Order: sequence, then structure tokens, then C-alpha cells
Amino acid sequence: MPVRATKRGVERTHLERDCDVLVCGASFAGLAVARELAGAGARVLVVDRYEIGERQTSACAMPTNWMTALDLMGSWRQSFDRLVVHTPFHTARWQLPWSFSTFDYRELCALLWQQASSPQLEFETATVTGRDGTTVRTDRGELRAPLIVDALGWRRVLSNATAIQPPNARLSRGLEVHPPGRGEDLELWIDASYIRAGYSWSFPAGDELRVGVGSFWPSHRVKEPTVRLAGDLDLPAVGYQGNWIPHQLRRAVEDDVFFTGDSAGHCLPLTAEGIRTALYFGLACGRELRAVLEGRSTREQALRRYAAFSDSHARKYRVLLGAQRLAGQLTPSRALTAAVRAVENRRVAAWIFQQYLAIAPPSFAGAGSRSLPRARLAAAHA
Ligand SMILES: Cc1cc2nc3c(=O)[nH]c(=O)nc-3n(C[C@H](O)[C@H](O)[C@H](O)COP(=O)(O)OP(=O)(O)OC[C@H]3O[C@@H](n4cnc5c(N)ncnc54)[C@H](O)[C@@H]3O)c2cc1C
Repeated sequence: MPVRATKRGVERTHLERDCDVLVCGASFAGLAVARELAGAGARVLVVDRYEIGERQTSACAMPTNWMTALDLMGSWRQSFDRLVVHTPFHTARWQLPWSFSTFDYRELCALLWQQASSPQLEFETATVTGRDGTTVRTDRGELRAPLIVDALGWRRVLSNATAIQPPNARLSRGLEVHPPGRGEDLELWIDASYIRAGYSWSFPAGDELRVGVGSFWPSHRVKEPTVRLAGDLDLPAVGYQGNWIPHQLRRAVEDDVFFTGDSAGHCLPLTAEGIRTALYFGLACGRELRAVLEGRSTREQALRRYAAFSDSHARKYRVLLGAQRLAGQLTPSRALTAAVRAVENRRVAAWIFQQYLAIAPPSFAGAGSRSLPRARLAAAHA
């Protein structure tokens, strides 16, 4: 049994704090924000309802070049330079121009936290319940900061707008099991016998497999097909984890709060790839916050610039959402199989996957002010 690290009962003492930056959520997006603030000399408080890395939130696969760019290979499990895609009529092998890697969630979070480390950085476990202006309410008390980030995932807890709730909200849903086992291929199933609109997967990660089903329609159940797929692969359905996945971009700034990752709908439609984009927009958000802390911009300028940065991706998100809707209608037709076959052509696959990677390119990871030596930073802003 895993030991629960999160403070419970009497250990959950009262927490009342003022800080310069309050980052709510300590998964991919929140930790990427904190990483960009390392050494900025500010009081940064990160809160999450669980200890860092305690609760895995995804199948944990992302482009390998993002892992190397962020120096996260210490959490690496396996890499794949092709995708094996099954439809009821054909199995295709798509050769990728770059590889995907699986990783260990807890280890990756620990690495990001290490990179964020600075004397005035603190972490507290607390459940965020809401916000009044620059005061964030938690189950342990009130936290205040002029700069607030919501990296809390799809619930978008710090928004005071009307809550969106599944199954009516624009959300996909995903569920997976983590049986012990080994595999060589990253496999996808586009097969209506598992899910009508969506896809199923098996991601090998060292000595475990992550087998699951994602539905583009929130009202479609994913548990039964997940168990069935595991059974079809002769695997026990053990180690469940699942969540809702937003598939539409939302406002990245609301009421002077920065929203990043799933809370801003940054997960990509069609593929439900949300780790790379949570890191990407988290870094972008962190860089804007750092500019405020270093006196290079005002809070208002940072809010405007970050919102504009997120909005500048809207067309690409719309294209992917259009493809997601189309894919939902084509399943399980021969037209879809023809499309899957077309990507077997290496040049077609290279073009598609390069365009896809360019939505949030790994070069962005090294482009921030955090990675510049202090002398160059000073010169750049002189
Ligand atoms: C089954 C499944 C498999 C997936 N597989 C992949 C994959 O292989 N690759 C990929 O790129 N994407 C995958 N995704 C999508 C990906 O998981 C998300 O897009 C990604 O986790 C978003 O990161 P985030 O940091 O924005 O939010 P999250 O990872 O959801 O993190 C939110 C954080 O906020 C904390 N939190 C939430 N509410 C509160 C609260 N009220 N108070 C305090 N803390 C709170 C949570 O504990 C968590 O730490 C998958 C999703 C699912 C459901």
C-alpha cells in the first residue's frame, strides 16, 4: 500500500499567509510556473491538496525532446519513435519524426520542484475552495498575493464565473489502469467497439503498462471498455486513475488571475495531449510573472501579454477541435481507416507530426529569461 503523505487531521494546521506569488496546483502547469521563478528573490507559495507527485494525473507520455529540453530525463521510462494504430480493418505503423517517452509522475514532479528551488519558495498542502479578489480561500485558511495562478486543472476553481460541470461541459473523459507488464510499442485503438468517439491506448512504461480509454463525449462511460481492453490484452484491470479533460481553450486571464494548463483548456483537442502544453503555458506564465517581480513589467502588462500569448494559439486549437468532431463522426468507417493508412507514408507522418509539435515546440523550454546567465539578463533589459 502506498503511504499517504498528505497531512491529515490535526497535522492540517491553520494556514494564513501573504506572499508575492501564489501558485495553486502543483502538477505540470503549476510546477512549470514555479520553475521559472527560481532565484527571482520573491516569496513564492505553491499549494496543492496532495503532496507533490502523490497523485498521478495522466498516462504520462510526452515528446522526448520536451523532457530533454527541461532536463527531466531522470524520470524517463521508455521511448517510442513509432505509433501502432489499430482500426477494426487495419493496423497501421506511423513513423514519427520525433519520439514520445513515458515517465514516472512522482519523479518528474520532484525534478521540476528541485529546479524551482529557492530560499523563499514554499509548498503547503491545502485544498483551494475559492477566491475573493486577491485572497484565496483554502480549507486551512486564507492566502493573499498580488500575483495569483490557477493551475488547478479542469475545475478552474479560482474562476468566479458560473462553474462548468460534466456531462454538459466541453470536456472529454479518460480512465486507465496500470497493470504490471512490459511492451515494445505505443499502441492506439480507434475502434467503436471500445469507444464510439475517442480512442483507447496502451503505453508501456518500464515494468508497467498504462491501458485506457478516452471519450470525446463526456456522457459516454469509459470504465467498462477500459476493463474490457485490459482483458483483451490479458492484463488485470488494476491501479485505476482517471479524470475529465477540457477540450476547448478557455480565457487564460480572468479577474486578474492567471489560468494555465487544464484550467485554461490548454490540453490539445483530438489527442488529449495536455502535459506538454501545461508545461509550455506554465513556462510562459512564469516568465511573465518573473518580469513583474524584476520590475520589467507591471502586473497589468503581464496579464495582457499572457492572455494574448494564449489567444494566439486559438486557431490551432480550433483546427484540432474540428478534427476531433470529424473523427467522432467517421468512427468506425472505412474513411477513417483510409486516413489512418495515409499516415503510414513517412513524409505525410513527418509533416503532420512536425506541425503538431510546433503548436508547443520544445525550443520554447530554453527560450526564457530563467535560463539566461544574470549578466546577459541585465544586458538584455538595460
Ligand atoms: C487518463 C488520462 C490519461 C492522460 N494521458 C496523457 C498523456 O499520456 N500525455 C499527455 O500529454 N496528457 C495526458 N492526459 C492529459 C493530462 O493529464 C492533463 O492535460 C494534464 O495533467 C494537465 O496538467 P495541469 O497541471 O494543468 O493539471 P493537473 O495535472 O490536473 O493538475 C492539477 C493539480 O491541482 C490539484 N488540485 C485540483 N483541485 C485542487 C483544489 N481544489 N485544491 C488544491 N489542489 C487542487 C491537483 O491535485 C493537481 O495536482 C491524460 C489525461 C487523463 C485523464
